[in-house]
Amino acid sequence: MNCSNISIVINTCLKVDRSLKQKLSCIWYNDRPRYFHSSRTVCQTQKDDVEVLLSPQEVTVILRKNEFNKDFPHGSVKSYDSNQLPSNDPIEDTRCEAQCKMTPGLIMGVFDGHGGPACAQVVSKRLFKYIAAALLPQDLLQNYIKQEPRELLIDTFNDRVSAEIIQDLKVIYDKSFNEYLDKLSNCAKDEVDVKVSLEKGIMHLDEDLSREVVEPFKENGTLNHKTLSVALSGAVACVSYIDGPHMYIANVGDCNAVVGTMTEDNEWIAKKITKEHNTENFDELKRIWNEHPEEERKTVIRRDRLLGELAPLRSLGDYRYKWKAEILSEVAVPLIGQKAIPANYYTPPYLSAKPDIYYHRLIPKDKFLIIASDGLWDMMTPIQAVKLVGEHMKGKVFFNPLKLPKKNIQLGDINELLLHRKESLKSKPKDRNAATHLIRHAIGGTEYGVDHSRLAHLLSLSSDVSRMFRDDMTVTIVYFDSEFLRQCPA
Ligand code: MG
Repeated sequence: MNCSNISIVINTCLKVDRSLKQKLSCIWYNDRPRYFHSSRTVCQTQKDDVEVLLSPQEVTVILRKNEFNKDFPHGSVKSYDSNQLPSNDPIEDTRCEAQCKMTPGLIMGVFDGHGGPACAQVVSKRLFKYIAAALLPQDLLQNYIKQEPRELLIDTFNDRVSAEIIQDLKVIYDKSFNEYLDKLSNCAKDEVDVKVSLEKGIMHLDEDLSREVVEPFKENGTLNHKTLSVALSGAVACVSYIDGPHMYIANVGDCNAVVGTMTEDNEWIAKKITKEHNTENFDELKRIWNEHPEEERKTVIRRDRLLGELAPLRSLGDYRYKWKAEILSEVAVPLIGQKAIPANYYTPPYLSAKPDIYYHRLIPKDKFLIIASDGLWDMMTPIQAVKLVGEHMKGKVFFNPLKLPKKNIQLGDINELLLHRKESLKSKPKDRNAATHLIRHAIGGTEYGVDHSRLAHLLSLSSDVSRMFRDDMTVTIVYFDSEFLRQCPA
């Protein structure tokens, strides 16, 4: 069977039987000889029916395309590595990392969109400002509101989401943000509670996504299709806020945050901070069943999905599961037809953006935090990811030139340093960026290490086929400074 035939089979099976994935993988990987050809960028079939794979260099170019990393000169966060690999076209995952400008603290988040990229794009561009404003104590907030022009609330490091929609809706978004600031100023306090601020930022932004559609419609019958596309698509979010040894994680949906910790015996352990909001989380199921009448028990969760449709049980946007049926009839049905109202839709809202917020006091043994979308966690467990990043840390030393730690160092110490470096060379990773290292292993990993042909095949698939094998992947790894944490007062 040649490459294009396989694609047809996969396409045909896409709607038929997902369990065929495994069988198709076997056909795909095991039945023919493979050759590498550096000038081809997609999987092609030559006349002699020999499949041409992406070369190792081409694979690496694809894997590294969205890499980003940044070092910090002081504080509990030493640096971070981030990367993402699309499966959907366009990618529905987004990410954002920023420094608060008027208060201390770094905010980093991964967002996984569904039903189109609009909501995840908008949330990644707007949310951190909402959070940073909620983190301002009373006096700073009042000063900020009076400023003309206003200084930036956040300094964003890796702003690559090209969201035309944000530019088009700028006036609407600025108006919403100003109204939000007024609401904040009415209840601002001198003492800021980070957990409350994170929840406020997320919930207010989610309410604004709805208000931006419904208010103009009620006032003068205007329906803006762009604000509507944002409100009808959805996004889950996992956001960390780190200030010194204090780490908070706000989670809505099914992304996850995991801390990699080194034990006394130099073993890695994975501390999973978050709990996904999906049907595997029994507390979530109980919550949803309790929020709706007994008669809906069989319909509110069907086929492991909310109302038989949506996999995450909390999210931003997704107003098809939040608005009353009358509003859906007025604003969504004209655009997408009767299917806009899910079956068995009796007692909305069925969905909420309320985050679970976790606090974790960082200790010197906590070496890094991994935040990633389910695209990564579908492929590896938290402990697998932690061990891979741990090994990567050990080998990464080789990417940096040898630096002697102090003046007047003894020859014996230099010898020891060089021996340690020589030992590390054995585990030198292929990728400098640990997020790429994880993605490479997630896609190409086998019991015997990374398999090039597996990687090359999966990266050659068109997005409609690729989506069968894997999801969009977004990974951000935040490294902690153990020395800084050691010196933090208890
Ligand atoms: Mg996903």
